[in-house]
Amino acid sequence: MQRNTKLAIFIMPTIFFYLMFMTLTLLPWYTGILLAAAEFFGMHHIVTRVLLNNSTYTDSVSSTPYFAGIISGSILWVLYCWFTRLVQQTQYHSLAHLMFALSVGLCAYNFFRAITLDPGTCPKPASDEELKSVIEDLASEGRLNGQTFCIQCMARKPLRSKHCRVCDKCVARSDHHCPWIWNCVGSNNHRQFLLFVGTLVIGIGFFDYLTYAYFSSAPLPADPSEISPSCPLPGDLCAITAHDTFLVSVAVWATLQLTWTSILLASQLWQVARQMTTLEVSNLGRYGFMGGRGGASLSGQMGHRHQHQSNTVLPGVDTEDTSLVTDAGAAAGGAVHRHSGVCAGCGSGFLMNLLGFDRFTKGKAVDGLTRAGKASNPFDQGVVANCRDFWTAGRELGVEYEKLYDVPVEGFREAKRRREQDDEEDGVRKGTGARKGLFMGFGLGRAGSSRGGYEPVSQA
Ligand SMILES: [Zn+2]
Ligand SMILES: [Zn+2]
Repeated sequence: MQRNTKLAIFIMPTIFFYLMFMTLTLLPWYTGILLAAAEFFGMHHIVTRVLLNNSTYTDSVSSTPYFAGIISGSILWVLYCWFTRLVQQTQYHSLAHLMFALSVGLCAYNFFRAITLDPGTCPKPASDEELKSVIEDLASEGRLNGQTFCIQCMARKPLRSKHCRVCDKCVARSDHHCPWIWNCVGSNNHRQFLLFVGTLVIGIGFFDYLTYAYFSSAPLPADPSEISPSCPLPGDLCAITAHDTFLVSVAVWATLQLTWTSILLASQLWQVARQMTTLEVSNLGRYGFMGGRGGASLSGQMGHRHQHQSNTVLPGVDTEDTSLVTDAGAAAGGAVHRHSGVCAGCGSGFLMNLLGFDRFTKGKAVDGLTRAGKASNPFDQGVVANCRDFWTAGRELGVEYEKLYDVPVEGFREAKRRREQDDEEDGVRKGTGARKGLFMGFGLGRAGSSRGGYEPVSQA
């Protein structure tokens, strides 16, 4: 995709949002809403059918900055309303203004960081010899399969990672590919993503509060002749809408986003506290364990890969771990794999995915949530340690998620303690004080070690 095309797609929502808000302001509500909806559709048409030259309305938008543009356009018009209207209320609500400014600042910063940071790309073998020895090691241990090896990257696949078809790489401690931030959410940008969502929710809350305060003290038209007689809302709301339709439109649009962002925030916080990712919750529901479909033969993986190449794949819409494994593997888990890559009924699925609700509808994720209470999770160290590990991207457990291939038999805590002890002894003995890397302990040679909740019971 050309740089200019990306830029155009990114800017498009900002322009069209202005058009829509102005349409609602200038026209009576019944024509305004219709025309604004038509403009929204027009924007979508231009982006998907003209700029991207797609044959459908949902194809491959996830790999473009379109949704990131929708977010930044919305933030921009919220800020515009704040500067031009709400700031004048400062003398009474200075604290709310301060909190709003802080949340918007943090939100925009973390939004930018989540987009630009590498989500945690897993390393590939440097040479053919290294690749050969990786494959030979895995094969000799009898576990060369889709869980341990990524055939797209031709590299070892760390625990909790996933090959993202949109980004075309394996992402460490993968949560999901998020079209809103035009990036995967993985170990390296998950914190920024969560801060972005959290400050977004808080920011919208303060914006709504300030909007409410603004209208409470605004000189509303008392004369009924100024209010459209066809207004379907209660009298007060009609007066407010007549007074400043632009601000009302922006506030309604922002508040609509509050629904799915607050659900997203709540489930993210719950998962962080439990040391689980969206992918793992979904896997639990579909297969009864956290590590995705395992045990697929390499030839099966090859077959699947070809199948995907020949089909029209809907990138990014499938948040499950479908890379690399056969559909027969899904049947073993008792779940029917409905996302065969062909765009079947993708309209509603697409919307559910965008809003982050697909976890509740797809792959028996509700089962995953109920099973999560009982599932053995080798990474779970209690709420406080889980949150610390999330914040430090693995330092609490003493792991690098990009290179994490096994759960140590003795557990993460013990492994970390012993490694630090070893390092200290090394330092004393050598007298150089040079510290060995904290993570050297995790190599390829841990044959037969337990992968905890990461393998089906029959294989573990
Ligand atoms: Zn990969
Ligand atoms: Zn991705």
